Amino acid sequence: MASEKSFELRIITPDRVFYEGSAEMVEMDTREGAIGVYKSHVPTTCILRPGILTIHLEGGEEKQAALHGGFVEILKESVTVLAEAAEWPGEIDVERAKQAKERAEARLQAHNEDLDPLRAEMALRRAVTRIKAAK
Ligand code: ATP
Repeated sequence: MASEKSFELRIITPDRVFYEGSAEMVEMDTREGAIGVYKSHVPTTCILRPGILTIHLEGGEEKQAALHGGFVEILKESVTVLAEAAEWPGEIDVERAKQAKERAEARLQAHNEDLDPLRAEMALRRAVTRIKAAK
């Protein structure tokens, strides 16, 4: 049963319910910076950036994952993340992430006229997050 300190956390991606359960705290990266959310947070919504998600469970256990953008709705008793993509460390193909990182870095360095810098920057961020989360 959920303790007094815990809230309901749901993380949904286009292809699955990534996580559903209670948590005492959850950390993630938003456009405004890193946030740590406890129960009874002031209700708000935030846009996410690719980064490491850390779920703090009752009893001190932690779970980490790579979370790649989307948005989060924070309510007093629940937190719902709608993410573009998310992976547990064991699901990450590190070689693929390294190649994506190299592609994004090459694009950013080439400064082509048709470069979409935000898109390249986000691709780089996703790749770096995956490499970090897989460790
Ligand atoms: P790539 O250029 O390698 O496709 P990407 O950052 O553009 O990387 P996304 O659009 O974020 O990829 O993800 C598309 C799908 O592929 C998602 O379901 C995501 O979880 C999965 N995915 C992407 N990269 C990896 C990886 N390195 N390991 C495992 N799954 C991955």
